[in-house]
Order: sequence, then structure tokens, then C-alpha cells
Amino acid sequence: MPTSHAPSSLPLFDKVRKFRAVGDLQAVREAGIYPYFREISSAQDTEVIINGQQVLMLGSNSYLGLTNDPRIKEAVCEAVQKYGSGCAGSRFLNGTLDIHVQLERELAQLMKKEDVLLYSTGFQVNLGVISAIVGREDCILADRANHASLAAGCQMSPGKTFLFSHNDMTSLARRLAHLPPEAPKIIVVDGVFSMEGDIIKLPELVKLAKQYDAVIMVDDAHSLGVLGEHGSGTASHFGLVDDVHLIMGTFSKSLASLGGFIAGDSDTIDYLRHHSRPLVFSASMSPANVAAALAALRIMISEPERMQQLWANTARMKQGLLSAGFTLGATETPILPVYVRDTMKTFAFCRRLQDEGVFVNPVIPPGVPPGEEILRVSLMATHTFAQIDRALEKFQMVGKELGII
Ligand code: PMP
Repeated sequence: MPTSHAPSSLPLFDKVRKFRAVGDLQAVREAGIYPYFREISSAQDTEVIINGQQVLMLGSNSYLGLTNDPRIKEAVCEAVQKYGSGCAGSRFLNGTLDIHVQLERELAQLMKKEDVLLYSTGFQVNLGVISAIVGREDCILADRANHASLAAGCQMSPGKTFLFSHNDMTSLARRLAHLPPEAPKIIVVDGVFSMEGDIIKLPELVKLAKQYDAVIMVDDAHSLGVLGEHGSGTASHFGLVDDVHLIMGTFSKSLASLGGFIAGDSDTIDYLRHHSRPLVFSASMSPANVAAALAALRIMISEPERMQQLWANTARMKQGLLSAGFTLGATETPILPVYVRDTMKTFAFCRRLQDEGVFVNPVIPPGVPPGEEILRVSLMATHTFAQIDRALEKFQMVGKELGII
């Protein structure tokens, strides 16, 4: 029977053909250890349901454990009743609600910046900010381990990008010293690195930025709710808010929603409002997402004990993994990379842990450099010590079984 499908070997889709031909992926699927797109049929909480099995969630970015909070769900329901399900337009035209502006105001206060602009995802923030502000003559200095969205923003900008070694201020200094003194420069970094879990060496970076007259942009996706006063991020953690010109944040992690923002001086933010394409030409955050982020933000500020618990949970898990003999690298945060250093073994480890009721994320290149494959464990404020101890028991058992410890 002829089908209506188009032929599968169009030259245009060469990359797709090559992807399909990769034997590794097939082998991973055949071995039953393919770890991606696992279907969860419950809320994102400390325990989730996968294929009818209850598993302990140690792979969520919901650091404050707010994604299933009844107060936030209530706020979302109220917003949907009042504003409907979508805004049907961009912020620039018909898509600005009073609650968008309210969220921007409260964020500006928290971040101690003049103004804030919301985008519909954090990825769009990084794309939209860097590509809009960096001109042809400008230089970007970027950490090699920066998030893919920062790298995409750099690629989309007409300026030149210079990479420096991960969190290595000597490497950054070397790069800066070789650039023309008159060229405008921006240093773009993650505050907390999303896979490695280490914190940017901001005090040294600020010194260099001052020496070479460079602007700083920090991606605080994994720092919000984790570091700083009221969870306001990396710059606050180091007492350097006035020295970091632009701070990016997302609502898809601690703030239990979807969307992102950029905080900075009012001139830059106003420029972005009118020139940043992912902002001007994409629909605004939905009412439900805004209401969730606003409610989560208020809870983050009024319940500092959540952040304290997150750190207590992190300390317990980290200590347990280290004393079991696992290697965790330079992490300083609730992101704990367990080094396996082999792709198939990482997938097998992940699969066996899931069989034993523990969900973690396997990260292989390009998420990490080749040879640095990890299981990425991330903690939430709402994990109990009993859950953490159960996870540690399983890690130890499977780690021994696979010869990792
Ligand atoms: N920056 C970093 C460091 C991230 O980890 C992520 C999300 N993985 C983003 C930006 C993008 O954020 P969002 O999920 O809101 O698109």
C-alpha cells in the first residue's frame, strides 16, 4: 500500500539521515537503557510516577520544591479564570497584562536593578539579549562551559566571541589582554554552571572587568532560590550586585513556572523592549505562567527556610556520595555531578537506578566535554532525609554492581 509519507532521503535533510545512521543510539535503545523523554504521569515533586512505578525524583530543577505547591496552583487557577489561557500576542502589541508588569516590578526590587523585562523562556532571554545588544565591533568573552542558550545568543550576535577556559580567571585575563583596548567588551557567564555545579569566581571576574572596562552578564538560572539574599542569585551572594550589569533568570527552576527575565539598567532594558526579536516577535508569557512565577517569587522571599533546607539536603547527599567513593568534581551547589566518564555506563547506571526507584539525569557530550560523562543529581528543599538516605543506599548498591565505586 502506498503511503502519503514523503521520501526519507532528501539531500536537504542530510543531518537527519546521518543521525538515523548512528549505530550508538540504536545500540542504546536495543540495550533498553535509552534514558531520554521518559514519560512522567504525575506532578513534578520529590516522588513521581513513571510507567506506574513511583520513583524518587533527583533530577528536577525545582530547587525550592514549589512546582506542586497548593498556593501556587490556586494562584494559577485564579489567573486563568480572570485572564484566560493565553495572551494571543507579543508583549509589544496586545500581549502585556498588568500581572506581567507587576512581576517585573517585584523582580526589579528583588534583584536591586532599575528595570526588568520578561521573556517567554529563559532560552529566549539569552538569545534575545546578547544578539540585540552586541554590535559588529564588540567582543564577547564567554566561559567554555556556558549554557547552550548563551552560546546560541553569542552565535546570533554580529560581534566576535572569545572563549576562555572554564571558570579560569587566568585564561580570561589572557583573552582580555589580547583584545584592542578600545573595543567594547561583554563577559558572559553562568552564575552556577548547570552541569558542573560550581559557582563563577565573580570577585576575580569583576576585578578583571573593571581593569579592562568590560560589561558583565550573568545567567542566574541555577542560582535563583539557591544563592544570595532571598535567593536573588550569584551577584548578591558575593555582594557584587552593582558590579554585574545584566542578570538573567528563569522561572523554569526554583520559580516553578515557565519564562525568564533580564534585569539591568533602565536604558538597556528599554532598548531591549523595542529591539530584542524573541521579545517583540514572540507571544508573551501565559497568564498561568505569570501567576505561578509571581506566587513562587513571593514564597521564595517569605520562606527563607526553604533555601536553608535545600542546603542541608545538599550537604547530606554530597557527603553520602563522597563517602561511598563517588567523584563529584568541583560542585559547590545542589547540583551534584557524579562522574562516570563513559556514555554506555552512564546510561546503564541511570537505568538501573530507575529500576531501583531513583530518577537522575544522564549527561553526555555536548552537555559535558567528551570523557566527562556524568549522572546529574539535583536536590530539592522538599526532599526528606529519609528519601536522601534511600537514594544513597541505591547509589551505593548500583555503583558497586557496575564497578563505578
Ligand atoms: N540558562 C541555563 C544555565 C539553563 O540551565 C537553562 C535551562 N536549562 C536556561 C538558561 C534556559 O532556561 P529556560 O528553561 O527558561 O528556557
